[in-house]
Amino acid sequence: MEILGVRIDEVTMEKAVENAKNFLEEEKFHMIFTPNPEMLMVAKNDAEFSNILNSSDMNIPDGNGIVWASKRLKKPLSERVAGFDFIHKIFEFGKNKPISFYFLGSKPGVAEKAAENIEKNFNGVTIVGSHDGYFSMEEEKEIIRKINKTNPDVLLVALGAPKQERFIYKYREKLNCKIAIGVGGCFDVISGNVKRAPKLFIKLKLEWLYRGLTDLKRLKRLTAIPKFVRAVNKSR
Ligand code: UDP
Repeated sequence: MEILGVRIDEVTMEKAVENAKNFLEEEKFHMIFTPNPEMLMVAKNDAEFSNILNSSDMNIPDGNGIVWASKRLKKPLSERVAGFDFIHKIFEFGKNKPISFYFLGSKPGVAEKAAENIEKNFNGVTIVGSHDGYFSMEEEKEIIRKINKTNPDVLLVALGAPKQERFIYKYREKLNCKIAIGVGGCFDVISGNVKRAPKLFIKLKLEWLYRGLTDLKRLKRLTAIPKFVRAVNKSR
């Protein structure tokens, strides 16, 4: 289905993981994105970003806002597939298999710590390298070289949206991996740098509100939500 001009794949968690497993079987590069309302609002006013999202191999419905919009547009998606939970399923699948991961992004030390925690919690997962996400355009080629040298199957990119999607798209023909995924703030949470919301907030589907209230930088970003609601209603 399409929301504000961006294709959202009608996948459950199970189907999304199955697709990823199939991507790993193919000798080609695949892009997986996790559009949320904020990203769709950027795409609405940025045709280039919209095209990048639409060129992916899978766009998973990340967030309750996307599920809400699908119902509003009378094409209800069956469930939210949070990027955070999705990559954990892929780690679980990668245990004791010849599947390797590379963590790119977040502040210095964070991806490294996240990798350490994943290796601890998912015994048998292979993480072949990590690099922080603060580099100049001149350094990009060297970063790609470093990533390719470790020969990962799955590249997780945490540069925040839309930077991470643009990066993946820009290097889609240079990266020697099978899957690249934009993972936003996942390393911050996995490394323990940022806490996930208390269970009650998650249960009430208010994790976004908790994150907005506890991180002032995010508070401003919450203003995208009423705009998203209006835009979806208008597009009906
Ligand atoms: N980030 C980065 N390089 C940049 C800008 C951001 O590595 O130039 C990282 C930042 O440190 C954070 C991640 O991108 O770990 C995602 O940021 P945010 O929490 O805004 O992501 P969201 O999940 O909300 O897209």
